[in-house]
Amino acid sequence: MYLYNSATHKKEEFKTHTPGRVEMYTCGPTVYHFAHIGNLRSYIMEDVLEKYLRFAGYDVNRVMNITDVGHLSSDADTGEDKMLKGAKRENKTVMDIAKFYTDAFFDDCRKLNIKTPDVVQPATGCIDEYIKIISRLVDTGYAYLAGGNVYFDSSKLARYYIFNDHDEDDLAVGVREGVEEDSNKRNKNDFVLWFTKSKFEDQALKWDSPWGVGYPGWHIECSGISMKYNGEYLDLHCGGVDNAFPHHTNEIAQSESYLGHPWCPYWFHVHHLNDPAGKMSKSKGEFLTVSLLEEKGYDPLAYRWFCLQSHYRKTLVFSWENLDNAAAAYTKLLNRVAALKPEGDVDRAVFDGYREKFLQQVGNDLNTSMAVTAVFDALKAKTNDATKLAVIGEFDKVLSLSLLEKAAALREKAAQTVQSGGGDYVITGEGDPDIDAKVLARYEAKKAKNFAEADRIRDELKAQGIEVTDVKGGASWKRV
Ligand code: AMP
Ligand code: ZN
Repeated sequence: MYLYNSATHKKEEFKTHTPGRVEMYTCGPTVYHFAHIGNLRSYIMEDVLEKYLRFAGYDVNRVMNITDVGHLSSDADTGEDKMLKGAKRENKTVMDIAKFYTDAFFDDCRKLNIKTPDVVQPATGCIDEYIKIISRLVDTGYAYLAGGNVYFDSSKLARYYIFNDHDEDDLAVGVREGVEEDSNKRNKNDFVLWFTKSKFEDQALKWDSPWGVGYPGWHIECSGISMKYNGEYLDLHCGGVDNAFPHHTNEIAQSESYLGHPWCPYWFHVHHLNDPAGKMSKSKGEFLTVSLLEEKGYDPLAYRWFCLQSHYRKTLVFSWENLDNAAAAYTKLLNRVAALKPEGDVDRAVFDGYREKFLQQVGNDLNTSMAVTAVFDALKAKTNDATKLAVIGEFDKVLSLSLLEKAAALREKAAQTVQSGGGDYVITGEGDPDIDAKVLARYEAKKAKNFAEADRIRDELKAQGIEVTDVKGGASWKRV
């Protein structure tokens, strides 16, 4: 596979530390609120990446944290504690909030066919790991104590800005967020590894440490959790593009200083889903969730389809009109798959050819729009339906659009519609139950000698682009 690597700013051949095995890490959600569909864009694309790697034959160990402590609203060391903010908003404890929104996150993931990573670790469960890492960083001079907190000393690094060639001033903490700089810091890029004294007197979760009772900073959790479950050599680290700085930059700084060797060579960053008014955010009050999509009548998988149609390295703009178009295209595809007859033998040579092409095309920097196009190509293939269905099922291991399951359900529904009033009148079409029902109604009108009604229905179908042909024992229809 070739992947764009945001650490080197180029597309590179993906190679792993241990051949055949991928140690993969994903920054998980901060569970102080529902995930918005922008967050979920990142998780959908990371899910496709994981599934593609498995499809390509890798054994993948995917680890994800759940941020239930330490994430401040600025992404750096200032602002409010997000979990505390959520607890106050809902008049609940931090742990209640964490549990509720962790469950809600995985419900959303299930609806979007996002696989649960092999390891899911709440940050509060690995305090000993962070203390071990921070202790060594203090001992080796990479970290210092000031004002009761432990800070990472960014001046000890040969290179700090890994991902961006930004103007330092644009990134400077404090300036960027319009909040006050922490005067304990020796350098502006230093960051907190362990808080003891802070403005959060009412911080609910605190642990004992060599530096006093307190709690970990946000960045250390991902290094600690990854090293615990992925080992010292991580192959692939994922997150939304806003995580690149300061979060991932700081993860690299502390991990490599701790380990004494390079930590993770490949960095995969998903660009944002924006609403037409700008960036989506959980803290701006009203935001778009999977539940809202469902309330409005959308299948969550239509949203997954919408995401797959565009490349992960491009900003995607959400609008209801765009989602409507995606939902219509998804339904049309399902109907076309439903119209295939699961009969005959799979032509292995054709199947292998399509699989290989898919592997090549999608393996070019996770080209998901090509993956979607490949399904349409398979539908048009010069082969039997059984082979087409097998190829589409194979592609869906990566796409996870439930193509075969939903098509089978449509087929079943269509069969039921036909049976319900038609006796042995058999309708064959493209697997759309609404059209089947109209064709059946036309037949019943004719049987009752209500020819005006039968003609009306035929004209209505014609206006929809449906051509009905009477055949022995029933009717067949197609889109023209
Ligand atoms: P959070 O819950 O804020 O820690 O974010 C969870 C994930 O969503 C992180 O990987 C973020 O980088 C990512 N993310 C945040 N906002 C967006 C967005 N608008 N579009 C895509 N991904 C996002
Ligand atoms: Zn992280």
